[in-house]
Amino acid sequence: MKKIVTLLIFALLGGLGSRVLNAQSGFCGTPAYKSEWLERYQQNPRVINRTMLDTLYVPMTIHIVGKDDGAGYISLNRLMDAFCQLNQNFEQAAIQFYIKGNIRYINNSNYYEHDYSSGSQMMAIHDVANTVNCYIVDSPAGNCGYYSPTQDALALSKGCLGPGDLTWAHEAGHYLSLPHTFFGWEDTQYNYNSNTPYAVTWSNITRPVEKVNGSNCSFAGDGFCDTPPDYLSGLWNCNNAGQSGQIQKDPDGVEFRSDGSLIMSYATNCQERFSDDQIGAMRANLEDERPGHIYNNQTPPAPVTSTTLTPVFPAEGEAVQNYEDFELQWEAVPGAQMYIVDISRISSFAFTVASYFTTSNSIMVNAGDLAPDKTYYWRIRPLNRYNGCTGYSDGHTFELTDLVSSTAARETVQGLRLFPNPAKENQEVALEFTSEKQGNGTVSILSLAGQILHSQPLALATGLNRSVLSTGNLPKGMYLVRIDANGGANYRKLLVQ
Ligand SMILES: [Zn+2]
Repeated sequence: MKKIVTLLIFALLGGLGSRVLNAQSGFCGTPAYKSEWLERYQQNPRVINRTMLDTLYVPMTIHIVGKDDGAGYISLNRLMDAFCQLNQNFEQAAIQFYIKGNIRYINNSNYYEHDYSSGSQMMAIHDVANTVNCYIVDSPAGNCGYYSPTQDALALSKGCLGPGDLTWAHEAGHYLSLPHTFFGWEDTQYNYNSNTPYAVTWSNITRPVEKVNGSNCSFAGDGFCDTPPDYLSGLWNCNNAGQSGQIQKDPDGVEFRSDGSLIMSYATNCQERFSDDQIGAMRANLEDERPGHIYNNQTPPAPVTSTTLTPVFPAEGEAVQNYEDFELQWEAVPGAQMYIVDISRISSFAFTVASYFTTSNSIMVNAGDLAPDKTYYWRIRPLNRYNGCTGYSDGHTFELTDLVSSTAARETVQGLRLFPNPAKENQEVALEFTSEKQGNGTVSILSLAGQILHSQPLALATGLNRSVLSTGNLPKGMYLVRIDANGGANYRKLLVQ
């Protein structure tokens, strides 16, 4: 039986594309799918008491999808705001999602803007078992999001995870078995001027149309008796009463308006809740169908309350030499399990030059991401895996200097060059430069941190000078060669390989 159902779902998905293009305005691409499990459950649904619910902790894997070259990732800031809001939307159900493992990155332009076939392939390859897999892309088959019943995963558009957008909560509702409140009408345009039929058909499945009097609520529409009838399968705006402007007539001719507060409707501006019966079904779905998703033998950490950034390296205003990647470090924030780290040229952080995600209180910064001889601002957003709601710390600063260019103006010998450069281990390196006057100086080899490793005297003649420098015993790596002469210093990088 399971196999037949799977094939049927494939058929449903196959027919979905045109439906989405025609009627959905790109909101939700989840097929009009109701699981066998939910059909069975609704014959004997649980009754819940919202005040008596134990929190179910549900692991989630977040996949951030970019183009082939890694461009286009959702900003971590927006992602965490959306994750915060998702959990706020599910608090009423006492379901709390938490981020399991690291945030994963996938670079694939065919997934970044995908059709259902590529999306299905992406999920089949990258899904992590026993977690709610969420793929954040640019265009999930032209929708804001969808739940794939065949792959059991969510695809979400990064453009639909902004403030007040309920897309993630809506699709997570699908994941936990909920159909649309207008289930059955997915491909049917409601028309007030025609008599409402007693049944609607979507892709060869005929559903009874739900009546206002509740007489068929347990098997018509979405099968939940505490969600009133709703026939509106296109996006609509709520009126001041939180209902549809469109008046509908049930098959008996009784008029009603749709309830826009329900997250599983297609209302756009007043969704906020799941009904008791929907909550009962989502919790039962986790407990009955997805026991591997529940990790209740753990105590989540208290929400992070401090957002204080105490820099360890660089210290406030400290200068960092821009020769190689360096590690930003800060004092761990109590309760924080993850951090977002932003680096910006401006104190408002309106634009960032780099943004990092880390599960420790340090992060390697790619020197190549930052231009030298500039002041940078950095800040952290401490988070725990259960709560994305913490804000950012205040900004701190560091200077990034490039010793070679910053001292160029003080060069005291001219035309300094080293060859060969790169040099081999134990190879001698020739120095060549011109000096305006005669004198005594020093030539040194330094580590990038500025430690002198080798030093020898240097006699300067007026005009062209040539000298030889030994690299004996220097391990492979990048070094600085410094000439101290005529009251100043010249630097060049030397690579030993
Ligand atoms: Zn939907």
